[in-house]
Amino acid sequence: MYNPKSLKADEFISNEEILDTLEFAEKNKHNREMIEQILEKASPKKTGRGVECAGLSHREASVLLACDIPEMTEKMYSLAREIKEAFYGNRIVMFAPLYLSNYCVNQCVYCPYHYQNREIPRKKLTQEEIVAEVTALQDMGHKRLAIEAGEDPVNNPIEYILECINTIYSIKHKNGAIRRVNVNIAATTVENYRKLKDAGIGTYILFQETYHKESYEKLHPAGPKHNYAYHTEAMDRAMEGGIDDVGLGVLFGLDMYKYEFAGLLMHAEHLEAVHGVGPHTISVPRVKRASDIDPNVFDNSIDDDTFAKIIACIRIAVPYTGMIISTRENETCRNKVLGLGISQISGGSRTSVGGYAGYSSEERPHDTEQFDVSDQRSLDEVVKWLMDMDYIPSFCTACYREGRTGDRFMSLCKVGQIQNCCHPNALMTLQEYLEDYASPETKAVGEALIAREIHNVTNPKVKEKALANLEAIKKGSRDFRF
Ligand code: SF4
Ligand code: SF4
Repeated sequence: MYNPKSLKADEFISNEEILDTLEFAEKNKHNREMIEQILEKASPKKTGRGVECAGLSHREASVLLACDIPEMTEKMYSLAREIKEAFYGNRIVMFAPLYLSNYCVNQCVYCPYHYQNREIPRKKLTQEEIVAEVTALQDMGHKRLAIEAGEDPVNNPIEYILECINTIYSIKHKNGAIRRVNVNIAATTVENYRKLKDAGIGTYILFQETYHKESYEKLHPAGPKHNYAYHTEAMDRAMEGGIDDVGLGVLFGLDMYKYEFAGLLMHAEHLEAVHGVGPHTISVPRVKRASDIDPNVFDNSIDDDTFAKIIACIRIAVPYTGMIISTRENETCRNKVLGLGISQISGGSRTSVGGYAGYSSEERPHDTEQFDVSDQRSLDEVVKWLMDMDYIPSFCTACYREGRTGDRFMSLCKVGQIQNCCHPNALMTLQEYLEDYASPETKAVGEALIAREIHNVTNPKVKEKALANLEAIKKGSRDFRF
């Protein structure tokens, strides 16, 4: 029986509820009156506290996704843009993945790190190698990392992950520092989540891969990840362990996208119902080519237009949740979806174990790659590309460091007030990037952007302080934040 407050996976991600939702969506996909009402419900409204959005239930959002009336799709895109503008402005937060180890005991059939793949060399970074990788990432200008590791209790025990986090935070090279480490590791115990919390992680990210239980079990034929309930209930254990910010995601292409979409939103509703806070982020990866993996064998792949619509509908349904896209997507696709709701992207990424240190920006090792990187530009190129389109690349990590996580973050976010911090923080961290890492061309574009954008800081006191901080950064000071 469907129950968003239940702690049992089968009840908060109820197969019957998803099937009913898909039937309801199919029946109403041409019901213009209902679609107009749903769009109106989701529109940003001015209230005494600021701008607020109601969001949508998984049923309502599924009707939007099913609707194939071109004029309505345009309305959805324009609402998604409006919501993005209201809560995220033109800022895009930058991050990079850091692969620690590709040892894995699972057999996920879509991932080259699966246990039975003998073609791929196995590698695990030593602490010395982590210092080299993180130094290289700092030299590119990154401040925010997402660490990734396969599941292997012998090679990658929690103690190893904790040691790596500690090493990463301790590296201070020139003006560089990693100020937020997000963690993407396998589902684990409450006790281990507590240890991750104590190690000072940012967001705990775990992709569901697919919400369809039967497919899930087939796609994960062996290893601890085979257990659908243990995997699906992981975020509840993470929150019980004290982690405030969790990141959801599905791997689009594994099962029917409409099913995944409804499941994803039900998972978000479940977290809100039980813990009072929805997911901090949602990632939208698609299956990609890699060693031993041919994406064409998965017959649920989605085209770029469907992908864009999914992103717009997620933006409308969960307006306060950040959305992440990786270098799995190429420049053209990234360009298309940035305006529809994406708030974080990776740049200059390497998806192999030990892919950063000792390689030029053109070189990339392929032997241990988890997936083929479609956007192969350097961070400097991505930063300039964003600024040329009037986006502000942000290296901000302030909330986590100010203790604005979980419901404290959401309460500011839900009335649009977080913008008062995000906007000046984006400009100050971009100024740091320009001073320390940018090419002369990128620096010139960035200086002009900051000079324009500082006038959009509405609070006079904040603006005055931000201007003083920008000058101080030019003179060598670092790490200011609101
Ligand atoms: S997806 Fe994760 S758990 Fe599955 S094989 Fe790859 S690294 Fe291992
Ligand atoms: S102020 Fe907080 S929400 Fe805004 S960009 Fe910085 S860390 Fe993110």
